[in-house]
Amino acid sequence: MSVKVYINGRLYDKQDAKISVYDHGLLYGDGVFEGMRIYGGKVFRLQDHLERLWHSAKAIWLEMPMSMEDLASAVNQTVKANELADGYVRLIVTRGAGTLGLDPHCTSDPQVIIIADLISLYPEEFYEKGLEIITVSTIRNHPAALSPRIKSLNYLNNILAKIEGLQAGCVEALMLNHRGEVAECTGDNIFLVSRGQLLTPPIDAGILEGITRAVVIELAVAVGITVREIPLTKHDVYIADECFLTGSAAELVPVVKVDSRPIGDGRPGPITQQLLTRFHELTRQ
Ligand code: PMP
Repeated sequence: MSVKVYINGRLYDKQDAKISVYDHGLLYGDGVFEGMRIYGGKVFRLQDHLERLWHSAKAIWLEMPMSMEDLASAVNQTVKANELADGYVRLIVTRGAGTLGLDPHCTSDPQVIIIADLISLYPEEFYEKGLEIITVSTIRNHPAALSPRIKSLNYLNNILAKIEGLQAGCVEALMLNHRGEVAECTGDNIFLVSRGQLLTPPIDAGILEGITRAVVIELAVAVGITVREIPLTKHDVYIADECFLTGSAAELVPVVKVDSRPIGDGRPGPITQQLLTRFHELTRQ
């Protein structure tokens, strides 16, 4: 069965799902998006993703062309049409087609695109043995230039960091912010465990407010783990007992080496494993 892609109220076969080359999403990365998981045929935390999408759109002066309720139905309709029990949804809203100039006022019709497809997951080995990552020289966008809280179609900041990571043989890379503090990875948030407490950079470190990050904080609080959102340095990472990353695609993946330094005893730690188990219970119930 061909993948059915939603564009502005209609479902198209994958090969027929097309938008204009004049779309400012393509020309300038002018648009916003969400990446969501489907578990058991349902989109996980759909409402939270929609709210973040609305905030991203508002931050770039993009008026959403439909209501949140209608977009939620469109997402569910697309997931159903593709008969997916488990998978991934990419929800995109572009500024729409315009002239070749920057002016967003010359665009018309924001394009709402929903792609629901299978997901390519990290190999199981990463979860059992943990990842090795490096800190890259590409810093996260300065929040006063382009806020990392906006999940925009312009991901070059993250892509450049990802390339640095890949060149060093790492599938994820740690980015610092303009103050030299730990921010996040190219497509995942970061957590440390230190003296039994869960530490993660605050939103004002210049990071995306991850939905999985919020879920993991909830899970940790529920089992009585103290969670602190505090500025962190590379030093904090190096001396942490445990480290893991969170994201809709990655879920919760242990990190066992950063910049060639073993974290803790160099194996996924007990709190990481406990939270991963809780996460699985929540998403696979
Ligand atoms: N940070 C960045 C830069 C991201 O792109 C993502 C999403 N892939 C995340 C963090 C994790 O966010 P979420 O848990 O909402 O997927």
